[in-house]
Parts: sequence; C-alpha cells; structure tokens
Amino acid sequence: MNDSMRRAAAILLVILGGVALWWAGSGAPASASPNDAMVATIEAARERAAASDARLKPASRFEKGGWIYVHLEGDPGAMGYQHGYLLAPEIEDAFAAVSAGMMHSTERDWAFFRKAAHEMLWPKIDAEYQQELQGIVEGLRARTGSKLDVDDIVAFNAFEELPDYYVPWLNKQQKTAKAPNLKSPGNCSAFVATGSWTKDGLIVMAHNNWTSYRNGERWRIVFDIAPKNGYRILMDGFPGVIASDDDFGINSDGLMVTETTITQFEGWDPNGKAEFVRARKALQYAGSIDEYTKIMVDGNNGGYANDWLLGDRKTGEIAQLELGLKARKLWKTKDGVLSGSNWARDPKVLKEDTPQFDPANKKSSPNARRARWDELLEENKGKIDVALAEKMLGDHADTAQHKEEANERTLCGHVDASPRGVKEWNWQPYYPGGAVQGKVTDATLAKEMRMMARMGHPCGGDFLAKPFLAAHPEYAWQEPYLRDMKAGPWTEFRSGQAPKE
Ligand SMILES: [Zn+2]
Repeated sequence: MNDSMRRAAAILLVILGGVALWWAGSGAPASASPNDAMVATIEAARERAAASDARLKPASRFEKGGWIYVHLEGDPGAMGYQHGYLLAPEIEDAFAAVSAGMMHSTERDWAFFRKAAHEMLWPKIDAEYQQELQGIVEGLRARTGSKLDVDDIVAFNAFEELPDYYVPWLNKQQKTAKAPNLKSPGNCSAFVATGSWTKDGLIVMAHNNWTSYRNGERWRIVFDIAPKNGYRILMDGFPGVIASDDDFGINSDGLMVTETTITQFEGWDPNGKAEFVRARKALQYAGSIDEYTKIMVDGNNGGYANDWLLGDRKTGEIAQLELGLKARKLWKTKDGVLSGSNWARDPKVLKEDTPQFDPANKKSSPNARRARWDELLEENKGKIDVALAEKMLGDHADTAQHKEEANERTLCGHVDASPRGVKEWNWQPYYPGGAVQGKVTDATLAKEMRMMARMGHPCGGDFLAKPFLAAHPEYAWQEPYLRDMKAGPWTEFRSGQAPKE
C-alpha cells in the first residue's frame, strides 16, 4: 500500500466508525445531532490524514510579536501545499475580508473576478507559480475542507491589481454607466540609503505598509521561503498570497527590495503577466538590480504600478525603478538616498501614466510625505541605521500644517484621524486606513537573512475597531471584517529561525 492508499483506507475506517456511531446513537433521543457527530468525525480524520502528509515535513509555523512566521521549502507544489495548510484559517479569514472589499469598491460580483483570474491571468502565470497556487488550494482543502478553488485563489492573489487597475480600465473600455470612482491605491512610505548617507556606509532599507486597516491587520505573515529553484527569500506577506505584495523582502544573493505605489496611475494591459507573479519571480530569481528590472518589465501588465526601491548589498548600489506601463525610468547610485511615498517623478511617467496626479499640491498625502522624507533624511545624513529607520517609520510630522499630528500626511499614516481623507486614492474622510506595519533591514542583517518588523502602526499606536465604528457609521459595511489593530514590538526575524528564537 502506498501512502495515499493508506490514508484513504484510514479515512474510510473512520467514516465507517462514524456511521456505526450514528446508527448506534440514533435510538437514543437525548444524544446530540448524529449528523454533526459524523461530520466532526470525518473532519478529524481528514485533518489527521493531512497532517501526516510528507509534503509538510520541512515546513513550520510559529507566532512572535504579533507576526506569524512560516517556513516553506521544496518544489513549488509542496511549498504551496505547506502555505495552504499552515495558514488555512488565516487564508479563509483574509479571503472573506479581501473579497468583500473588492466587490464593495467595484460593484462587481465575485464571479467577475473568478472569470478575470481564469481567462486573463492564469494562462500567463509561469508553470511553477501555477503549481504553487494549486498547492495552496490543496493544502487549504486538506486542512479545513475549504470550498475555495484555484480561480478564487488567483483572483485573491491579484487583489492589489484587479479592482483598482483592471476594473477602471475595463469600465472605460466598456463605457460603463455610473461606474464607481476607482483609484489606484497609494500604499506605503519607504526609503533605501547608501554610502555617505548611512552610519556604516552600507545599505539601509525601511518600509511601512499603508492599506486599509481591514486588510492591513491581516498583513502579518513573515515568509521564509527555501525554493527548490532560485534564491532563498525572507519577506513579509499576506496569507494565501505568493508575493510579499506590500513588498519588503531580501534574497540570499544580496538583493533588497521594497516599493511604494504610484498614486493616480492609470492603465492596464490584459495581455500582460500579473504583477504578483512578476514581483515574486523577481525576488526569487534576481541577483542584481538589472536582473530585477528585467523580470519586472517582462510582460508588465501595468497592475499595481510601483516605484521599486532596490539595493544590492554585494555592490552597495541602490536604485529606484519607476515602473509605469507606457513609460518607466531607472535611477541608480552608490552614494545617496531614494525615498518613496506614492509619487512618481519622471516627467514622462507623470505625463503618460499618471495624468491626474498633481506633484505641486503640497497638501496631498504623497507630496507632504515626500517633503517630510527630504527633511528627515537630510537632517540625519550620515547617521542612518536600523534603529533610526525604525523611528522614522513612526514619524508624525505634518509638513503641510507644520506641526506634529498623526494624520494622512505623516510618514506613519493615520487616515482614520483625518477629516480630509485622501481624495487621490478615493479614501473618504476618516477612512480606516494608514500605516499598518513596518519593516527595516540593512546590508549586515540582510547578509545573514535577518530583518526587523513591527506589527501595527510603526509609532506603536493602537487602532480600536469598536469606538471607530461607533463614531463613523459610514464604514459600518466593514464591521464584519474590521478588527482591532494593536501594535506589537519591533521584532527580529531571520531565515531558518526556530520557534523559541
Ligand atoms: Zn503613527
């Protein structure tokens, strides 16, 4: 008997046992629902069978500082299975929150997103990532008996690109009447510095993730990925998604990667390759800034268009890849600092890819934060290190009002505190979103595949859902998914970490 036959036999035995119990129990009027008992028995058998799956052997999971650390290892299918199995409860929960948000903002049903995933995205996904995505479904089903299939998981992986890039493009194509006002997101504050800007002359990289608190509170995974092919990866991420997606990661060949999203970006290429696939592939296979750029540009679909901030710890060089769809620009330096807060700067990208963005409006969130990065980084030239970068990510200086006040214009974003919201992203006043977590690393840590991460607002402030919803009933639709987001401590993670470390 092979393993799978043994498992099948074991399950059958338990099922038969359950049926016998059900028959025995059916005569006794006081017993609990016999059907429930049988279902529970079958569930338990399936979980036991799945837990002994050989594919799970190299994988592990533990929780620390508010984060869930998972180690995935092996061929693509096995890594997917491990991911789906180890994070099954979190994937089910995140899928519910994310899909609700996608449907709410676009006024499209879930079948629409499944179709886009199946017909447009899936055929262009590299075979190894198709296997990994299928593996996630298999692992998820083995653990929870989930009904989600691969179209659901692909649409879910594309949650940053389908609603805010594909749908507005499609609405325009189809001249959709009363189309909802969809805006590409503006996620994150970040910088990468090197040379005379940092304390030790080596690269320092920092990033905080801006998103809705609804999604952001779930952005708490640290993935340690040891793929059969390509480089080892340490990155933060989202349950069920194969790319980091807010994008902070390092690989074992020395590449350091983060980004901030380009505000008011417009455009989509239905024949292109999904951004989440390109971003994962680039982190797994690129050993240099040029290789990274090549992979990101290859099949660019315009989805989730970012200003990529890159570092190569082998050379000390840093770069900014402003990746529009119609235009793009790559800057590189071995002595400088490159910051991001959701603005494009190349004249051609601004003109062709972000026609509505106003770089001169000093009061907008992207531009006010840009001014603050310039100020803060200049003040600290030559002193920048990991500890200082952690502090910078929690900064509350509003350059438009010239005062300290956590709001939509501060590096550590608190849009829930802003009567203005962020109109460039269609975030209404007091939108429950902002900086949801932060990460920092430097060349020395990256060489040992280590990074620092803090869950929640990088300043340490808590977001509490109940009082927020009471004060802002306009966000009541989020009530089933919106949870408290309490800040954890700055916590160190590294590749190959054991649970007690
Ligand atoms: Zn803050």
